[in-house]
Amino acid sequence: MKQIQSVMVVGAGQMGSGIAQVAAEAGLDVLLNDIQEDFVERGLRVIRTNLARNVEKGKKTEAEANEILARIRTSTTLADAKRVDMAIEAATENMEIKRNIFRQLDEALPEGGILASNTSSLPITEIAAVTKRPNDVIGMHFMNPVPVMKLVEVIRGLATSDEVYQTVHALAEKMGKTAVEVQDFPGFVSNRILLPMINEAIYCVYEGVATPEAIDEVMKLGMNHPMGPLTLADFIGLDTCLAIMEVLYEGFRDSKYRPCPLLRKYVKAGWLGKKSGRGFYVYE
Ligand code: NAD
Repeated sequence: MKQIQSVMVVGAGQMGSGIAQVAAEAGLDVLLNDIQEDFVERGLRVIRTNLARNVEKGKKTEAEANEILARIRTSTTLADAKRVDMAIEAATENMEIKRNIFRQLDEALPEGGILASNTSSLPITEIAAVTKRPNDVIGMHFMNPVPVMKLVEVIRGLATSDEVYQTVHALAEKMGKTAVEVQDFPGFVSNRILLPMINEAIYCVYEGVATPEAIDEVMKLGMNHPMGPLTLADFIGLDTCLAIMEVLYEGFRDSKYRPCPLLRKYVKAGWLGKKSGRGFYVYE
């Protein structure tokens, strides 16, 4: 098993900034990468705000927060990956973008360097196939918000070696997470179970079974879910929900995964949930 001491996090958005933060908190040297300097800066600002909140709450000292920040450096070129043991990609959920990034990381990373993707639903095996090191490619699926959520689904591609799996499992635990082993099938486990439930809740709205408020109330009070499925869908983003349902539908060719027409309609209307101000609920 390899000891990972440095990582490049590719994509400094919602997930990438969280991954960079927990990696630096675990004592790793982090290179936070995005296509533009201001995108990296935006990610860093989120990390600074999170750490400042930790200091306010007495969870960290000012000195600890500063040490964590000092471990994060920035990058706007993937060639910088020549200096790290591993890369964790958290760029936009799009196969072409990810394949491009993996091709470049494969060129840049030293031999034996591990390439992980935080994809929510794209096949790890297909991403690995563009590299010359499919044995070293793996899925590392963090949950949102990364600093808070305990789970990391560790996804083994068809060729992922046992050693790489063990290294990444240990790394996730070092980052304070619980790693769960999953094989590479559409939606992995988390989204294969979660998204059909959300899609079914949307069918309940579509067919007039109940209002969004009523559906969420049933699942919160009846099933002890902390958040109703439609509130959760708005939080995830309805475009993302639709994209994952498409992956399941196309991946299994089983009609039980067909995306609800109402979900498609909302996405076409630009009702994407919380981020656009309107989804199943209206946000001020
Ligand atoms: P986001 O839009 O917040 O961030 C994506 C970032 O990637 C952007 O800053 C973008 O500029 C950057 N990027 C795009 N192309 C790039 C390239 N070629 N090189 C470097 N950076 C590039 O998206 P997000 O919500 O952080 O999602 C990122 C990944 O994490 C996706 O694969 C998504 O499926 C996965 N994910 C998301 C969630 C979630 O709840 N949002 C949960 C788990 C996994």
